Amino acid sequence: MPDKLTSSEPASAAVTETQQATSAARKIYPIVKYGDPILEKPGAPVKKFDAELEQLAEDMFASMYAAQGVGLAAPQIGKGLRIAVVDVTGGKNPEAKIVLANPEIVHAEGEVREEEGCLSIPGFRGYVLRPQFVTIKAQNAKGETFEIRGENLLARAFCHEIDHLNGILFLQHLSMLKRDLIKRKIKKLRKQGEW
Ligand SMILES: [Zn+2]
Repeated sequence: MPDKLTSSEPASAAVTETQQATSAARKIYPIVKYGDPILEKPGAPVKKFDAELEQLAEDMFASMYAAQGVGLAAPQIGKGLRIAVVDVTGGKNPEAKIVLANPEIVHAEGEVREEEGCLSIPGFRGYVLRPQFVTIKAQNAKGETFEIRGENLLARAFCHEIDHLNGILFLQHLSMLKRDLIKRKIKKLRKQGEW
């Protein structure tokens, strides 16, 4: 029964792949820094929800934890795709891992002005006004649509990552004075080969 034999091969290959996806060492991507044009371009919608996308999401979590961040968007690893990962517990609680594919804000409420940073702009922080509560509609890595409400840091992380997917950096929310100051310092670092 050659048919059965050939059809069982991909199935067992898929099992091996799944096992690897959960247990194998993850790929740690280097984080793209401010100045790379990909950070200021809107990402393309995620259309293909497959094993590759699930692997990308897990690699993004691993890369984010390695960089000690609470959120990471695909443009920050050089991929122009509308997918981001968020975990405000820093990997302490597996249930706090959130994959946001094609996310959008459906409701925002309140305002909080808090200091914010970005893995792509290391060493610089600034006060950014964000909603206190947001409700996000997104798809997970399997393509299932869900809604999630975030408060304070989680709301901030959602907004920050959705900004990334739209090519917007937190610098754009700062006063022109503060933004120019940071940009000048980065330019200087770049000249010294430290950026
Ligand atoms: Zn960022």
